[in-house]
Amino acid sequence: MTRRKVRKKDKRKQQDIARERIEILFGLADNAALKGEMDLADSYVELARKIGMKFNVRISREYKRKFCKYCYHYLMPGKTSRSRINSREKRVEVECFHCKRKMFFPYVREVKGKRGKKIEVQRCTT
Ligand SMILES: [Zn+2]
Repeated sequence: MTRRKVRKKDKRKQQDIARERIEILFGLADNAALKGEMDLADSYVELARKIGMKFNVRISREYKRKFCKYCYHYLMPGKTSRSRINSREKRVEVECFHCKRKMFFPYVREVKGKRGKKIEVQRCTT
């Protein structure tokens, strides 16, 4: 059965799944990086980005800090990146060791009116 049209509901469902996968992939990237397997961490980041692009899902702010926005390498403070807090500018400056470029993250107080959605990862993935 081939259905070309994807209904809106289906699309939203796919995006939920994509979001969950991205979450899992970043978790895996963290683990790999902690073990010193940076290549593996990079590939998880790449996969997460690809899923995001395919399903038109944005990578949340929390995860955006985990990789370089220019060269997409996984960022690990002290190992592949250096973070500094610039209190005058009220931002965190992250320098990527791969491409030597800097990213700036303004530190924002909690996103206003926190969305009531709670993300729970309970599903067994094995
Ligand atoms: Zn970079």
